[in-house]
Amino acid sequence: MSVSEHPMLAESANTIGILSEETINQIAAGELIDRPCSVVKELIENAIDAGSTVVMIDVVDGGKQLIRVSDDGEGIPPEDIRLAFERHATSKLRTVDDLWHVRTMGFRGEALPSISAVSKVKIRTMREGRKTGAELTLSNGLPGVLEETALSSGTIVEASDIFFNAPVRRKFLKTTPTEFGHICRTVQNQALSAPAIHVGLTHNGKRVSDFPAMSNMRDRVLQLFGAPFVNRCIEISKTLDGIAMWGMFARPEQVKTSRTPQEIVLNGRWIKSAMIVHAIYEAYRMRIPKDRYPTFAMTLDIDPTRVDVNVHPTKREVRFLDQEAIHHAIFHALKAGLGIVTNAPQVFSSSANVTASFSRGYGWGGSVGRTGIDEHDAARGTFHTTTETTENDVDPSVIAESVSQASPSLDRDSCDIRPLGQLNQTYIVANVDIGTWHGLKVLDQHTAHERVLFDRLLKQTRTRSVATQGLLFSPVVELQPSQAVVLNQHLEELRTLGLEIEQFGKHAFRIRAVPSFLTRTDVYVLLGEIADELIDGAEYEGSSSRDALDKKTHKVLATMACHGAIKANQTLGLGEMKHLIHDWVQTGMPTTCPHGRRIVMRLSVAELDRIFGRA
Ligand code: ADP
Ligand code: MG
Repeated sequence: MSVSEHPMLAESANTIGILSEETINQIAAGELIDRPCSVVKELIENAIDAGSTVVMIDVVDGGKQLIRVSDDGEGIPPEDIRLAFERHATSKLRTVDDLWHVRTMGFRGEALPSISAVSKVKIRTMREGRKTGAELTLSNGLPGVLEETALSSGTIVEASDIFFNAPVRRKFLKTTPTEFGHICRTVQNQALSAPAIHVGLTHNGKRVSDFPAMSNMRDRVLQLFGAPFVNRCIEISKTLDGIAMWGMFARPEQVKTSRTPQEIVLNGRWIKSAMIVHAIYEAYRMRIPKDRYPTFAMTLDIDPTRVDVNVHPTKREVRFLDQEAIHHAIFHALKAGLGIVTNAPQVFSSSANVTASFSRGYGWGGSVGRTGIDEHDAARGTFHTTTETTENDVDPSVIAESVSQASPSLDRDSCDIRPLGQLNQTYIVANVDIGTWHGLKVLDQHTAHERVLFDRLLKQTRTRSVATQGLLFSPVVELQPSQAVVLNQHLEELRTLGLEIEQFGKHAFRIRAVPSFLTRTDVYVLLGEIADELIDGAEYEGSSSRDALDKKTHKVLATMACHGAIKANQTLGLGEMKHLIHDWVQTGMPTTCPHGRRIVMRLSVAELDRIFGRA
């Protein structure tokens, strides 16, 4: 039997084939262009490379119908336009060595061919100094006839009907608001990477963002992320080991549960780097609670020969030649920077009104009375429990020996917990005597109250009975475009959580009502943070499973509870402590807050007796 007659081979003979040009282009395009925002990214980068001062982005239907990027850059000479759409055609690189010195955003010559492989493209461009411009239309990557056109110098690229020729990919596109949300973030990141460029964005003909040119990064960060973010940041600028680092970093005492923003611009390119984020987290570690994350916007300037950006077609991932040195430099620069300012008076602090809110809101007859419903009653009944640690699950290095092993089951109604006082304006020390167990409990006032509010709100949410309070002056909060987009997608859900807001202008929202315990908090900061939580939660989107929705809801509720809760470093009177303990007992004496932080530890008299040699 000859080889070709082999039954196993007969079928597979001649099955290896060279892919058609069209298929190759589609596959290559897939690496670079996976959704409308990738087109936006590539086109803005080309505009930046062309030396533009103004870049305008117009999108229709979340970019699914049309993406247009117009710039005032140097333009493309008519004789080069067709070439620009050939794979690996670039004006930015000539030899492999150039790779190590490139300062341009692009250099692989892949964007235009990829975009034209998956959408219908029209380009109009006029080279600086020429008299006429040229226009070219491409379909399925194939160029039509080059025509002359009147235009001022610059380039306009339109990509429409993305994935019209790749139905499977088209099916994977998300809703218009979701795709547009991605575009907003892309535009924001690109604007961050090029502060001197005026960047504008419209959606369906309406202006969404306008970021005029800024002369420095600090102003750009303020423009993009707003005063609430900048005000809770420390500005750190340092050059170590040839690494020039600048950034706005959240003060350790003002970090939030959201991870937005966490932006890194390396040599003028917005990148993602787990290594850099790790160095930053390490610098913050020990200064911030486990469930909080540093937020920051930073730039790094490193000799390009120490960085390889050519790891992935999108160039978002980078490789560092001396990764440890860079980790080390960032870690130390940041640690020193955070340390110095942390001990200094808080000049930038904007949280005064947030912290002040509680002392007025809690206490006898505070937020409880205003709604007219007995929130204590509302809190009674079944209790929601998240993964709980036991009270005995204490850091062993601290009081390993002294912690009682027995877990007395306290009867909520009969237990007697009497506050003795406050320690460090943060911990409530209480005397517990329930007959079977006598000892001390130490409660973290913030986490305890946070959990009380969270459970109460969760329960009210489930029974659709959230106690809300209308705001007399319905404040209007201006958000970043990406925050506004995500908030707009969740207006109904937020309403069920007691947050009644409505759009008021492009990125502004009017707050009509909030859960009653939040009436005195800084709603400006709160709304931004909720939006950030929802952006962080974007990974759950598309999945409509209960679980995913629950996760989102919990994050938002936890953020609200955190805002409404009494803070650490706040003096409480005995009455207020008693009140808080009562609420905590009624909540079922949970041991962790919604973010998983500890609420309580205890020490029994029996343990004390043993420690002091009385037992
Ligand atoms: P790359 O940016 O990697 O060079 P692209 O496919 O994105 O590859 O672009 C190909 C070439 O087309 C660029 O090298 C540049 O010469 C030219 N080009 C693309 N967009 C513009 C633009 N907006 N203005 C001027 N030239 C452009
Ligand atoms: Mg490019």
